[in-house]
Amino acid sequence: MPIYSPPLRDQQFVMHELLGVAEQLKRIPRYQDVDADLINHVLEEAGRFCAEELLPINLSGDEEGCVFDPQTKEVRTPKGFREVYDHFRAGHWQGLAAEHEYGGQGLPHLMQIALYEMQYSTNQAWAMYPGLTVGAYECLLASGSKAQKDLYLPKLTSGQWTGTMCLTEPHCGTDLGMLRSKAVPNPDGSYAITGEKIFISSGEHDMAENIIHLVLARLPDAPSGTKGISLFVVPKFLPVGSGAEATVGARNGMHCGGLEEKMGIHGNSTCQMVLEGASGWLVGEPNKGLNAMFVMMNGARLAVGVQGLGITEAAYQNAVAYARERIQSRSLTGTKDPGKPADPIIVHPDVRRMLLTARAFAEGGRAFAYWTALEADIQLHHPDEDRRRFAADMMALMTPIVKAFMTDNGYRCATECQQVFGGHGYIRSSGMEQLVRDARINMIYEGTNGIQALDLIGRKVLMDNGSKLKKFGKLVSDFIEAHGTRPDMSEFITPLADLGDKVAKLTMELGMKAFANQDEAGAAAVDYLRVVGHLVYAYFWAQMALLALEKTAADGEAVDPFYTAKLTTARFYFQRLLPETAYHIRAARSGAKNLMELPAEMF
Ligand SMILES: Cc1cc2nc3c(=O)[nH]c(=O)nc-3n(C[C@H](O)[C@H](O)[C@H](O)COP(=O)(O)OP(=O)(O)OC[C@H]3O[C@@H](n4cnc5c(N)ncnc54)[C@H](O)[C@@H]3O)c2cc1C
Repeated sequence: MPIYSPPLRDQQFVMHELLGVAEQLKRIPRYQDVDADLINHVLEEAGRFCAEELLPINLSGDEEGCVFDPQTKEVRTPKGFREVYDHFRAGHWQGLAAEHEYGGQGLPHLMQIALYEMQYSTNQAWAMYPGLTVGAYECLLASGSKAQKDLYLPKLTSGQWTGTMCLTEPHCGTDLGMLRSKAVPNPDGSYAITGEKIFISSGEHDMAENIIHLVLARLPDAPSGTKGISLFVVPKFLPVGSGAEATVGARNGMHCGGLEEKMGIHGNSTCQMVLEGASGWLVGEPNKGLNAMFVMMNGARLAVGVQGLGITEAAYQNAVAYARERIQSRSLTGTKDPGKPADPIIVHPDVRRMLLTARAFAEGGRAFAYWTALEADIQLHHPDEDRRRFAADMMALMTPIVKAFMTDNGYRCATECQQVFGGHGYIRSSGMEQLVRDARINMIYEGTNGIQALDLIGRKVLMDNGSKLKKFGKLVSDFIEAHGTRPDMSEFITPLADLGDKVAKLTMELGMKAFANQDEAGAAAVDYLRVVGHLVYAYFWAQMALLALEKTAADGEAVDPFYTAKLTTARFYFQRLLPETAYHIRAARSGAKNLMELPAEMF
């Protein structure tokens, strides 16, 4: 049975020591009352829920999976999923960051992200049901009419009804401009929606009374391409009444046509959804549906990035426990445990390489993800307009990096940690092969990581002449200026500064090449994202190293081993992970020719 212990010490380090969250939130009137004690209390309770309720049904949920009944068109979730969801609702976790007005707790999104991390460490498949509900809530909050908000938001906040996002169709995934679902106006102001959606996560299940689908479709006179897409809210059961008092009425014409058989996240229902003149209501303006849906998509991209973090942490914890217990061979430098016939495998350098890779990506990822989540709160609610704009720029720049860099790392770390188990990692009961399978989808859905890389280099960097990247670069150079003269920081500052210079040069070079030939940007995109991702992690790791150095250098006090370990992990990151940027810079600079030369028929 896999283990999990909430990483509270590190979460609190990131929140309080690295980010100074409580002080930052004090500047936002909405979060005046959020202090360190409240944050710690929420983290502890969330961690307890995840470890005690979600973890025990993770392996069994994967083995049992979801079951579709073709007669009733209903889906049964694995044993325990519904009960745990009831407990989750009773604890008011669903509305953690939702507005008080709609029954939520009004806490920062940062807390939602921390909750997500622990949910994804313990049960990604389950966590997707409430996660999509948060996305639907945010989308309707941003773009719904008052009547829609009054009707749906209290139900989504309490978790009595859950949400989905319905974009993908059999012939269109990445290229939503080809979307075909049709919405025809009804005389009563609603629309009759017809079409077929596939791969809809949580599209049908037995955990909640009603399911609120946010569906992209085309109006009859809509322009072609992405400029002709509208967003509709399509409930599974037509609501009767409004607000918290609303009940469910007749069954709507949207049902599950079947479940996808898939590699991982078996406990989450991935549904083919059939719309047969289903009643839907327009959300926001006609033909502006993609803009409205982007609120949900951007939120989901951050959440998916955190799935990568959650899986990394879970894989790391299990691999460490195994490496301490499993005895094989003697240490290269002589026996370490003479009382046993062999030493624990944690003595072997290669096992440590795998463990530290996961540890460094987990801790670096946590710092990055929590910082990004705090920027999301600042973007939405900070009283100062310039600060809000800066945060919006950081969010735009970082979203593809959170999504792609963190999920690529998550998959890599899951396999590294599986490797620590040797053959036992390939066997189901270890739980490691499930983590590898579950981690794989995170690189695919919510826009593949290749598409995220194109978004970064194209829309987020080159199209605005690198201004957002320069703003981030200023944060990095301010840090270097402030601490660059400390001799004990040179092992961190020198590679950080060097990479900053290289990113600036690479960006310029790629911009010029792409100006002449757009394929140059496409050919460099994935390597470029990896390089910029490392620049971001190096920035956070250098800050964490500084904090750790200050603690470990304090005279006369016993050093908390947490800080010694932080410093050691920072060194590992800079010496063993960051150097991969050299390879990626070289690959990015090698140009499009080596990819585009081979004629398609020769593949
Ligand atoms: C388990 C699961 C759950 C999902 N949940 C949902 C959900 O809840 N709601 C929803 O709407 N969808 C959902 N999806 C769909 C998911 O978002 C899409 O699968 C994904 O966006 C990719 O689309 P596609 O599968 O059609 O691949 P395609 O778009 O066909 O892409 C195939 C390959 O071509 C590449 N490619 C495509 N275009 C370009 C380009 N311009 N430049 C470079 N490379 C390109 C892609 O990166 C990819 O590698 C889910 C999918 C799965 C498997």
